[in-house]
Amino acid sequence: MDAVALKVELQSCGLKISNITGVRRGGAGPTGGLHLRILPDVEGNIPVVGGFVDSSPYYLEEINGEPWVFRDGVALAQVEMMESAKFYQRATSSGVPMSKIGLLHCPTTFATTLLQTCAFWEDWRRCQFCGIELTLKDRSTVGFKDSKSLVETIACAKELDGISNVVFTSGVARDEEKALSKYAEICSAVKRATGVSLQLQIVPPRDATWLARLRDAGVDALGVHIETFDPEVFSRVTPGKAAIGFEQYIRTWEQAVDVFGRWQVSTYVLVGLGERLETIFRGVETCSSLGVYPFVVPFRPIAGTPMEATTPPSPSLMARVYLEAAAILGKYEGTAKSSKAGCVSCGECSALPDFERASRAIRAESSPLAVCRR
Ligand code: SF4
Repeated sequence: MDAVALKVELQSCGLKISNITGVRRGGAGPTGGLHLRILPDVEGNIPVVGGFVDSSPYYLEEINGEPWVFRDGVALAQVEMMESAKFYQRATSSGVPMSKIGLLHCPTTFATTLLQTCAFWEDWRRCQFCGIELTLKDRSTVGFKDSKSLVETIACAKELDGISNVVFTSGVARDEEKALSKYAEICSAVKRATGVSLQLQIVPPRDATWLARLRDAGVDALGVHIETFDPEVFSRVTPGKAAIGFEQYIRTWEQAVDVFGRWQVSTYVLVGLGERLETIFRGVETCSSLGVYPFVVPFRPIAGTPMEATTPPSPSLMARVYLEAAAILGKYEGTAKSSKAGCVSCGECSALPDFERASRAIRAESSPLAVCRR
């Protein structure tokens, strides 16, 4: 099995490993995973905790001290695991362990949730898959990260672990103006002190002038995540986002592309929430035509959320979606590698960047120039 196909299998089925100490169980975005490099050169965030992982046919064992992925007693691929970040051993000047301020999602990307609460959790608007407040309950993080702790931690992660970019996500704030001005202050302080590229993830702001103000504060890339393009799933699974409305997301994406540039604006597109396939492809087409990167990922259930028992989409479905999405992106010359920071530039939770590369190679191979060189 080639390494990309194995990544797709592992992201849908999970990988059983004996030691899951230190694996993040809640928080925003895909969780319960580990960074793996499937040799020689495919990197991915692979789920290792959760009910579905217990029934995965894939497991990790060592051969001569090196970790390999196995299935049915057959060694499929050697892998490398990311070492624990060195900055996790440090504390901020106020004594907070830096591992509570942010985490490495891959060797180059530091990620943290600025505001670890969400107004949508207070009522019917909560996204049914979301685990943002779970890590607050288990005390593995702090509720709001202040500029000083972030600057100290990110500077340390840059020096000790060589990170190049940062993802700042957040829950929905009750007072949007106050939250956005706090985020701008943080981004500006982090940029000034460390120079790293920054991605900020927000819901569509009521006041669109914030887009330019955030860029001026040092934000390089913006995530505005719609999650799904299926109207039924939008209202049932992400009711708070559905109340904002598709049109508002699209308007914000257009305005954000004007401010940040093509492929510096992105959205998660979750597969496996019960959506119709054609809505995914239509959505990917809409995003790509605007220069918004559709970050297609397999849904990964989080324990403790209303969707914890949902099974992730099958590897064959994901391969089909990736193939089609890569072809659509190719039409608009979209690539994950154009993104300056954040989930898309890290690219580990999705195999779309891997399919993009394969799709480009096939196109190059069948271009008139390649034919002429043969
Ligand atoms: S908007 Fe939805 S996904 Fe984002 S933090 Fe709130 S509930 Fe979670």
